[in-house]
Amino acid sequence: MARVSIESIRNIGIIAHIDAGKTTVTERFLFYSGRSHRMGEVHEGAAIMDYREDERERGITISSAATTIAWNDCRINLIDTPGHVDFTAEVERSLRVLDGAVVVFDAVEGVEPQSETVWHQADRYHVPRMAFINKMDRTGADFPAAVEAIRVRLGARPLPVQIPIGSGESFEGILDLITEKRLTWDAADLGETVTAGPIPPALADEAHAARNHMIEALADFDDRIAEKYLDGKPIAEDAIHAALRAATIAGKCVPVLTGAALRNAGIQPLLDAVCRWLPSPKDIPPAKGRGPGGAEERPADPKAPFSALVFKVNTTPAADLFFLRIYSGKIEAGGGAQNPRTKETERLKRVLRMHAQQGEAIDAAEAGEIVAVPALHRSVTGDTLCDPKHPIVFESIVFPDTVVSVAVEARNATERDRLLDALRRIGREDPTLQQHLDPETGQVILSGMGELHIEITKNRLEREFKVKASFGTPRVSYRETVAATVEGEDEFHRIVAGATHRARVRVRLEPIGGFAAPEIESRVNPASLPPALMPVLLDTLTGAATGGGTHGYPVVGVRVTALDAEVGDQAQPEPALAAAAAAAFRKALESGGVVVLEPYMKIEIRTPEDHLGAVVRHLGGRRASVEETAVVRQGRLVHAVAPLAELFGYSTALRSLTQGRASFSMEPLDYRPLPPSLQAALQA
Ligand code: GDP
Ligand code: MG
Repeated sequence: MARVSIESIRNIGIIAHIDAGKTTVTERFLFYSGRSHRMGEVHEGAAIMDYREDERERGITISSAATTIAWNDCRINLIDTPGHVDFTAEVERSLRVLDGAVVVFDAVEGVEPQSETVWHQADRYHVPRMAFINKMDRTGADFPAAVEAIRVRLGARPLPVQIPIGSGESFEGILDLITEKRLTWDAADLGETVTAGPIPPALADEAHAARNHMIEALADFDDRIAEKYLDGKPIAEDAIHAALRAATIAGKCVPVLTGAALRNAGIQPLLDAVCRWLPSPKDIPPAKGRGPGGAEERPADPKAPFSALVFKVNTTPAADLFFLRIYSGKIEAGGGAQNPRTKETERLKRVLRMHAQQGEAIDAAEAGEIVAVPALHRSVTGDTLCDPKHPIVFESIVFPDTVVSVAVEARNATERDRLLDALRRIGREDPTLQQHLDPETGQVILSGMGELHIEITKNRLEREFKVKASFGTPRVSYRETVAATVEGEDEFHRIVAGATHRARVRVRLEPIGGFAAPEIESRVNPASLPPALMPVLLDTLTGAATGGGTHGYPVVGVRVTALDAEVGDQAQPEPALAAAAAAAFRKALESGGVVVLEPYMKIEIRTPEDHLGAVVRHLGGRRASVEETAVVRQGRLVHAVAPLAELFGYSTALRSLTQGRASFSMEPLDYRPLPPSLQAALQA
């Protein structure tokens, strides 16, 4: 692909509720831009983007692969984002590195729970968006209702720039409100040719009204359009594009396009819109990070010092591939870059521009681009790479806490080593997957974001890494906290080889609410503890809190204050100090009674009305509370809150309860105290 200027780069993601059509749209993007000569169909299990075997079988997209396509004069880097809530980390990490997004909605379902979740995540990252109302060919497709749902449920300002002609079986094309043309596609050439014709007289009024609505809305953002509109003067296409682009990038409106990806309708105008209205890397604020002297920025400029974020690692048994978003400067194949975390220089032997499965080796890549480099030494997802002469660290990607864990056992010691190695490599790719060895049982404990997450990891272990291991039943990962302010003190006193080792520490734990890791601080009188020992004290307290409270779960929502500390005159006071600090922490925790917290989920269930009673009764038996029941198209929407512990196997239960006619989604909400009877059972 020829060089393009940074203004012509679009780093975008396609985000959607599962099954809205993200993969199908992506496939069309690849096909029409000439990157693939075969159109993969999801229902045939042959989609090109979803290349992992487990994804193909499930028909869902799990890992975000990046791929580059050329359209008009633009280079579009597509960052695939997952649709399942078990993989929110993937969504978060893609949002960090993309500059704009296309949100795909199902014209029948409208705004579904997961598109809502991701929409709000995108709000947090200020990602400019466009909407594509897909599946206009489905019976029950309702364009105005979908647009209204974007307004009401997402609190956005949708601005239709097209309207569909017909819906369901009568869907036949699109009215483009900017060019005032009727666009149609022909099945014979798989929709390659877009035919633009005059607007049929029967639709003239509707088109006119919709166009006026669009211009009026734009007049709110753009004074020149307002003037012309009020004077009744014609408004040039260029002026409309300029106004739409500015308003979209500023997040003031969301252009709405439509079509039916499966019928190959509406894709080319969507690609045009990506190039026209979504931002280039130059249009977004400079990347912010920390340098040796404090906060620093990196402008999207190839001449600035090199900086990039490792936003994804794809692990295969053969090799690891690291995806980089380059924020500033440039890299060359054969060059190097510093990882400020490991302080190592990483060799960039090859630089690849990615197309789904294969990479095209390129000589160099510049600010704004997304590329992959194989075989970095110790970098992981979230790391910064930079020019060693101009170090900077970008804020690492924050991943949610794991909420379930499972014991995994290998058949023998050799298998266990292979298991640990495979898990370490998968963990590099997916930081929401964690593992540790249970010192008591020797089992490997694997933690993740949900049942499906664990199940998919199991499949990957078997298929890709050929590791067989037996998985226990997934369990909830609890947290621990204190209900009231408590203190604990411990004195360590031991004679080892004739020398007295002594240390005394007193700590206070205060509940501060929330579920964040503890805040650790010191009020120790500097006269009583040599300053050099302070880090030992604080590190020990941090380790004690994350290492687990009375029940072995991480301690959250507390401030830990070291009140007093002193050591004897032994030559090496560190071990005694650490022992006393850990014990004081434990005593403080136990003195006040630990509160075990369990993760709660927000769930949304869509059910036909005749199953509503059964669904609600069933929830009642699972410690859930129903917050709200709403009437929606084709049934009821139940909003409920329930402990994760009660939701294992819920999808199976719901299916049998409703003959498969209900669907649900869930996302982590918060942590709440475990009822005393269940907490007592934990102790047993
Ligand atoms: P994703 O989960 O968002 O990636 O959605 P997919 O692209 O996998 O699509 C989900 C299902 O919807 C597949 O069976 C597609 O064939 C189907 N689909 C996608 N686009 C359309 C469309 O425009 N019309 C209809 N009727 N079905 C579609
Ligand atoms: Mg998909």
